[in-house]
Amino acid sequence: MMYLRNVTSLRLDPEGCNGCTQCVQVCPRAVFQMADHRAQIVSRDSCIECGACQRNCSPGALSVQAGVGCAAAMISAATSRNRRKQPECGCSG
Ligand code: SF4
Ligand code: SF4
Repeated sequence: MMYLRNVTSLRLDPEGCNGCTQCVQVCPRAVFQMADHRAQIVSRDSCIECGACQRNCSPGALSVQAGVGCAAAMISAATSRNRRKQPECGCSG
């Protein structure tokens, strides 16, 4: 399922990938696949910026601004009576 088109902050440095497969295993949205012992982004717009891949990528080949595009924050902002309040969900720590 696509989340939002062309907005994710997810970045992958293919040269930094050691092929550990952690990102494939932890991503809840099947954003990655392995090819030739390296991770590839195959569904970028499915990324919900949860940050799990970055936290589990030991060589630092992945970066993402976790929580920036969080659906919970967007829903909270849309339904809030306080329009001056910044959207937040608390998942980014
Ligand atoms: S977690 Fe990082 S090093 Fe491991 S496969 Fe994914 S991108 Fe490569
Ligand atoms: S931030 Fe979360 S949803 Fe996005 S690619 Fe990483 S693990 Fe998958």
